[in-house]
This record gives sequence, C-alpha cells and structure tokens, in this order.
Amino acid sequence: MRHTARSVPVLMYHHVSTSPGMITVTPANFAAQMAYVASAGYRTLSAAELARFLAGEPVPPKSIVVTFDDGYLDNWVHAHPVLQRHGLNAICFLVSGWPGEGAPRATAAHASDGTVNELPHLLNHREGELAIEAGCADDAVLRWSEIDATRRAGTFEFHSHTHCHVRWDQVAGNRSEKRAKLRDDLLVARTTLQERLGGVSDHLCWPQGYYDDDYREVARETGFRHFYTCHPGGNPSSKRTQTHAERSINRLEVRDRPALWLASRLWIHSRPAVSRAYLRIKR
Ligand SMILES: [Zn+2]
Repeated sequence: MRHTARSVPVLMYHHVSTSPGMITVTPANFAAQMAYVASAGYRTLSAAELARFLAGEPVPPKSIVVTFDDGYLDNWVHAHPVLQRHGLNAICFLVSGWPGEGAPRATAAHASDGTVNELPHLLNHREGELAIEAGCADDAVLRWSEIDATRRAGTFEFHSHTHCHVRWDQVAGNRSEKRAKLRDDLLVARTTLQERLGGVSDHLCWPQGYYDDDYREVARETGFRHFYTCHPGGNPSSKRTQTHAERSINRLEVRDRPALWLASRLWIHSRPAVSRAYLRIKR
C-alpha cells in the first residue's frame, strides 16, 4: 500500500445555490458530493499542504483540494455549513475589491432547536455579474464578516483572485499597459488581503483562467508562485524539479451532478496514467 498520494485532484466550484444558472451546483448535489468525500476518507488539503506536496513532500493517498472562485454569498449560505458538518476545508479565491461591510447574513445551517433560518435572496451567476457591474456587489458576494466567520470555523481559507477580476489583456491598449495594470491589480490585492486577513500567500487564481507569459512574469514579480488554472487533470508531485520557480495547478470543474460523478472523477485523476489517458480520449 502506498503511503503518499501520486496526484492530488483540485476541484473547482463557483456557486452552490438554489438559483439555477451557469457554473452552479445545487445545495443538494454539493451536500451529497461532500458527504461522499468525507465518507470515502478523502482529506482536504490547505493551499500550504498542496504546495508542500507539489514540492515533493508526502501527503495521505486520498488527498484532494476543494476550491471556490470569486467569493460568492452562496458559498457562505450553502457551502460553509456543509463543509463545517463534515470537518472539510476549502480554498476561496477572492476578488478582494468586491466584499462589503455589515453583519453576517443567515446560512442554511439548522439551529440547535431545529429551526431553519430565512435565507438571503441569492442571485444567479448572470444576475450577480450585473449587480457587481452596477456597484451592488454586496447582493452577490461575501462580506468581510462572513469571510472572518468561515476562517474562524476552519471551513475556508482565502487567497488571491486579483483585486478587480478584469481581463487586462482584453482592455489594455498595449502590452506595457497590460503589464502595468495587472501589476497594480495584484499589488492592491496583496495589500488588501494583508490588511483584512493579516496575511497573503503566493497562491493566485487567474481570472477566467486566462494567462500568458506577461501574466506569469508580472505575477512572479509581485510575489505569486502557485497559479490555479482551468486546465483539467490531476497534479502529480514534482520531486525531480525541486527548483521550479512557479507551478501551474490543474483543476476539475465540478458539474451539477450526483456524488457518483464526483467519485469517478476523483478516482481517475488521483492516478496520473489513468488521468492522462482519460484526457487524451476526451480530446
Ligand atoms: Zn473568477
């Protein structure tokens, strides 16, 4: 029996919500998926543990990472109580310019006397985009108080997804402007996370999965080293390349499907050769 994982699957979620839309998993399917993860004996790694595994340190054979992009309100309402129930933890890649002030809103967790909270209205993905554009991000995304509560509960840790979520490659007039805007964006993100959370890591998730050589260089120069992509696949350990300056991390987009679907994907992408063969066939 092996005593370390060969490859760590990293799951990518956005919304866990009762409001149907793009990149949304229902609370029922998410609860079933996490119940499977817990009952099958998977361990959810922190970003720091993933980094150590990628650098060659062993982790238990059934290790996975659960990630959420953007930092939506529904992560607090629906995902946080499920993670808490199972003692699992997830990474949230936060767009640090979006969270607002105010008290934590209600979650779907049942009170000890069995009563159910009246939940905040949840926008679907498109409605949320429009609310953010209109300056009403609070209707769609986490508040700092909710972020603090999940960190205290150990359900979420927070890393950078830039400060503005702008695709500078698409809006900048030229290459040097793209690099300058991205640099500012990443530096403000670092300062904000440092001030609000008391720390900032070298883990960065690319907005919309986009990156190029300039992006990677500017991100390295601003203190990031672990880059989360939307490329599918597992993440094998890289014992032989100890001196890597950066590491790109593959992620599996989790579908709104029952636990059995997730079980099969975790089985495939924990095995490097099976994962490679599977992706070849799919292509
Ligand atoms: Zn995003």
